[in-house]
Order: sequence, then structure tokens, then C-alpha cells
Amino acid sequence: MLLTITCTPPEGAAWPASDLGFLLHKNPGRVQAFEQSYGTAHVLYPEASEQRCTAALLLEVDPIRLVRGRSRNTPDFSLGQYVNDRPYAASSLLSVALGSVFRTALRGRCELRPELAQTALPLRIELPAVPCKGGPEAAEKVFAPLGWEVSATPLPLDPAFPEWGESHYLHVVLTGTMRLADALSHLYVLLPVLDGAKHYWLAADEVDKLIRTAAGWLAEHPERAWITRRYLARRQSLVRTALARLAEVDDVDPEQLDAVEDNDESDAGQEVSPNEAKDLATPEAEPRTPSLAVARRAAVRAALYEAGAHRVLDLGCGEGVLLRELLSDRMFTEIVGVDVSMRALNIAKRRLRLERMPERMAQRLTLLQGALTYTDTRLRGYDAAVLMEVIEHVDPPRLGALEHAVFGSAAPDSVLITTPNSEINVRFEGLAAGEFRHDDHRFEWTRAEFAAWADGVAARYGYAVRYVPIGTPDPEFGPPTQMAVFTKLTCNDEKGAA
Ligand code: SAH
Repeated sequence: MLLTITCTPPEGAAWPASDLGFLLHKNPGRVQAFEQSYGTAHVLYPEASEQRCTAALLLEVDPIRLVRGRSRNTPDFSLGQYVNDRPYAASSLLSVALGSVFRTALRGRCELRPELAQTALPLRIELPAVPCKGGPEAAEKVFAPLGWEVSATPLPLDPAFPEWGESHYLHVVLTGTMRLADALSHLYVLLPVLDGAKHYWLAADEVDKLIRTAAGWLAEHPERAWITRRYLARRQSLVRTALARLAEVDDVDPEQLDAVEDNDESDAGQEVSPNEAKDLATPEAEPRTPSLAVARRAAVRAALYEAGAHRVLDLGCGEGVLLRELLSDRMFTEIVGVDVSMRALNIAKRRLRLERMPERMAQRLTLLQGALTYTDTRLRGYDAAVLMEVIEHVDPPRLGALEHAVFGSAAPDSVLITTPNSEINVRFEGLAAGEFRHDDHRFEWTRAEFAAWADGVAARYGYAVRYVPIGTPDPEFGPPTQMAVFTKLTCNDEKGAA
């Protein structure tokens, strides 16, 4: 399968067309091959002059490797594993190859030609065979709103027998003037959307990737719901998550999605082979960093360990992702999840498979519905309470009531509170100034605002407090998440301090 990208700079341009090679990070003078788990991706330049430069991505799919790489995600009939269109059609595999071979270009990075990477270039993209169930109209409706002039011609089922009619493959030519990174991102997301076949790479962190890659354009696209549905191969739960998050640019936790109950049984168990997952997940030159949600839970657990906590409250436990982790660790002998939302608690119950849980494990867990702004005697006497990404959901005038209920009434030995650090929001593309990372956030605090609040709480209720950064910190704006760890002062501490 083949994809060509041609750039023809306007007359009098200060840069030669062959600079496309810099933007793609692939030398026009060489033919390069990149091994993928399902075959080989070749990059070559049929032409690279000052006036015109064409880069070709040629994917040689090895049906055997495709089968070996993924046990359950091949067509349903056994020969279909070997006889299918994957070697020839520009399907989701081409998109996977784009994401891996041109990963840096996809992110709009180019150290040698940084300005050109940000410049709208006259581009022509040609795809000789795109599987597209919706015909030329579907190609038009997804690409045209993004500024492409679309030419989509159905290919005959068999050129020798025109009476057999058209196949569902299109010859697609896209012409437009845009940043190379945007063009690649359109292809990356929309090729599998048009393909509509079962996904070859519906990994747990697909939602995350969709939102990151399409951050600049999908939220405004008139067909965003259709695109999202098709991209996620109609897995309802993922689709809902993605649509809900399109306005948001926080991190999604892959494991959380992993646990999502799937409505579409036929897709259940789709997974990416380790190799393929690596192709997808590993940036060209950077080691993979864990998602923010994973880092957050790791930091919370580390702090619980440090506090020596065994009996733990997860206040505002939501759908139970942290509960699951705590349950899997025998260190935690008693775990109580509290949330005001019955819906969230029901989802938690389902995801934790509470009904089918071994009794000894189930005995360690209690789920309670309750509002954290009211005192509740059931919550007294625990080693630690966690409020992970919860306080920012509480209306500021109600925070005093929450403080009293948590620190004054429940009064565990330790309290761990995480919340977004709003300073770093300026780094999130697509988040307008003053906007929050989540629709339901009532506020987001800077490090100084959080410390001012937490210092006050600690002083009023007799706790010491320290601050722990979570996630990769920005040198100027600090970490994406901040955590305050409160430790109850004993009488001795207080006397010592006095
Ligand atoms: N701690 C979870 C969920 C965070 S979302 C996690 O990090 O994944 C915030 C959660 O707090 C939601 O589930 C919401 O229902 C709950 N919540 C918000 N205000 C609350 C209140 N006043 N009392 C109890 N729970 C509340």
C-alpha cells in the first residue's frame, strides 16, 4: 500500500521543495526501511528537486507476521487471515505506519527547519487505494471541512469486467495548503475512520491518542461524532469517553480504559501485540513516560506506603480505578470508597466485578454513598484518606464544610490530596486561557494557591503538610498535578512545635 506526499513551493519561495525531507526527518537521498510488527515500511522520494518533492511511504505487509502479531484480531474466517486487502489498501495499518515512521513530523517538530514546520505548505496527497464503505461522499465529508480539496474516485471491482460495478475502494487525491503536521494528523485519524474495518490497533490508550493527535481540529469538525465512532470502531464506552474528553486535554489512563466494560461483544478481547503496541507507543527518540493518571496513582500509593497506612479511605473514589489498585495490594487491609455519585459507584462495582470477587477480597472493600461536605461517623478512625482529583469538583463556598468533615470529623492520621496545577494549563494546546481541564472543575489552583489553602487547613486542624509534584514537571510552570500530604500532629509534635 502506498501514500505519496508532494510539496510544490510557490514560485519565489525562499526554500527548496526538497526541504520536505527535513520536515519528515527522512533524507531524500536515501531509501529507508523501518521494520514494523506487521511488515516493513519503506520511505523513498520518487522526486526531490527544488521545485517539487514527493515522499512515498510504501508499506509491505506480511500477512504471516500480521497473523502472528495478533492472535484474535484478524478476519473471522481462517483463510481471511491470509487472504485480505491489508497488503494493498491504505487502511489503519498505513495510519499505524505514519504514526511510527513520521512520529516527530506528526508532532510538528523540526529542529533544522522550525519555521517551515509551522508554515502552511501547498501539499498534494495521493492514496491509490483507500477502503471506504461510504463511497466518495464519506471521503469528502471528512476531509473537506479540514481545508482539503478532495478528489475521490471509486475503483472498479474488476477493470476487466466493468459491468460488475464499483468496489468500495477509492483513489483519493487531497490538495490543500496546510502545515505538514496537520496533514499527517488528518491522515492518521481519518484513514482508519474511512476504512471502518475492525481495527488493527485498538489499544487501551486509543482515546488518549485520538485526542492528542486531533486536538487542533477534531473538536470543531462537523462530523466529529461520526469520526470518533468510526475511529474507535464503535466501541460505545470508548466513544463516550472520547466525546466527553474532546474539550479536555488532560491525560487518559490506559488502564482505566482497559477496564471499561465493552458493549460490543464481538470486539471484546481485541488487543495489540506487544510489538505493535511498541510501534504505536514509542516515540521516535523518547522513552515512553507513564500517563499522568498512572503517575498520580503511583504517587498516592507511595505516600500511603510511606505513611504506613493499612486502612484507607478513597474519598470521591469515582469509578474505582484507585480502589482496584489498592485491592490488589495486601498491604491495604481495609479499603472504603466513598462517592456522592451513585452512578460512579455502580460503575465501580461492575468494573471491580464485586459480585464475582473472592470473598476474602470483597471483605476488604466497602463502598459508601456520601457527600464529603457532611460529617459521617462511618469514616472515623482510618489510617489515611485519599482525595484524588476531587476538591476541584467542590464549589469553593463548600470547601470549608469538606475540610471540617475530612480533617475535623473523619480525622485520619494522613490525608492525601491531589489537584491539577493550573499554571501548566498554558502548555495545553487547545485550552483557552482561563479554561479548566475538565468541564466539571469548579476551580483549578496554582501551586501558591493550593499551598495557601493547604497550609491554612493544616494549621486549623493540627496537621503538618508537605507537597509532592506529580507528572513530568515543566521547568517554568511546574508539574501537571500537585499533591499535598497531611500528617496529623500528635500531642508530642504539637508540644515540640510550640
Ligand atoms: N478519585 C477519582 C475520581 C475523581 S473525579 C479518580 O481520581 O479517578 C471526582 C469524583 O468526586 C467524582 O466521582 C465525583 O462524583 C466525586 N465528588 C465530587 N464532589 C463530591 C462530594 N461533595 N462528595 C463526594 N464525592 C464527590
